[in-house]
Amino acid sequence: MIKKLLLLSLFPLLCQADPYPQNLTVPGGVAEINLGDSHSPSPNAYFNHNRVLVTERNGQWLALVGIPLAATPGLHKLMVESTAGNGEISFMVLDKHYPEQRLTIENKRMVDEMTPEDLRRIESEKISMEQIKSTWSQHPADTNFTAPVDGRLSSLFGLKRFFNNVPRQPHNGLDIAAVAGTPIMAPASGTVIGTGSFFFNGNTVFLDHGQGLISVYLHMTQIDVHTGQPVYQGQRLGSVGATGRVTGPHLHWIVYLNKEAVDPALFISSDIPRLAARNTK
Ligand code: ZN
Repeated sequence: MIKKLLLLSLFPLLCQADPYPQNLTVPGGVAEINLGDSHSPSPNAYFNHNRVLVTERNGQWLALVGIPLAATPGLHKLMVESTAGNGEISFMVLDKHYPEQRLTIENKRMVDEMTPEDLRRIESEKISMEQIKSTWSQHPADTNFTAPVDGRLSSLFGLKRFFNNVPRQPHNGLDIAAVAGTPIMAPASGTVIGTGSFFFNGNTVFLDHGQGLISVYLHMTQIDVHTGQPVYQGQRLGSVGATGRVTGPHLHWIVYLNKEAVDPALFISSDIPRLAARNTK
């Protein structure tokens, strides 16, 4: 018993977050690409014409490339501009099989029976969300994430989704289920770049962590922050809820890199076993 308590008290130390996401070069993953000695000025890097996050690690510049879920396995190119000249770096994207998930949504208005007014709202929300996720701020990115909710993993990123047996977009986030009202905390420092109540996504908060690293919190009961507000790691953003298109209270957490949704689990990989273990209880 004493041993168990000791282990529990040591746990926060043991799962000290890795300051960088896990390198996983698959569709929906993150590729770490070394861009050389950081004594020279920071290079600019582009993937599919989108600017890519560049950070420093152990005296080297490192590009963290968000790989689209729709990427074809095979060789891809990162374009690099540096004081030494322009060039490209090839990297290999490996295949990954994402399982299927079939969900029943009782509210047909959330699946295929939207009113013309709903459709107009959905379209304008899509445009504003595109703008928000295109935010680029030049300051160094904070990639040192902790889990935003103390809950259990309920749906993994990348699942091939069917609503009422109709194929839909794959699951672009990680679902963490918790009772409604559970606090949602900023996983790293950043700035609130948008909040709102959206048709599918419900009450939503967008955070900018620098250099195209954007995290998004959906289906919240309550929002406790406002646009323009700086936040620190662990600061309360609001609480878990069931607003928008949901089957129960949970956080749908999206992480964008260079405008591509990537697997949020890669940013909290040391904490994933703890959150996943709760599914068996
Ligand atoms: Zn989800």
